[in-house]
Amino acid sequence: MAMPCPMCKNQLGFNLEFILKNPKSKCPHCNTVFNFSVSEDVKSSFYSAIQEIKEIKKKYEKMVKFN
Ligand SMILES: [Zn+2]
Repeated sequence: MAMPCPMCKNQLGFNLEFILKNPKSKCPHCNTVFNFSVSEDVKSSFYSAIQEIKEIKKKYEKMVKFN
């Protein structure tokens, strides 16, 4: 997820995971401070999606090992 800065239009280079971990982030180009306040619902659905991906990867790794 690429996001441009609303102030200077440069790419921020933040992804959703970064924003969730750092809700108050600064634009590296113009130093504007953003507050990406995300609701707990969005956070928990994001983290459960990440967890699912990890479990799928684990299963896949096991399959590869035993083949
Ligand atoms: Zn900026």
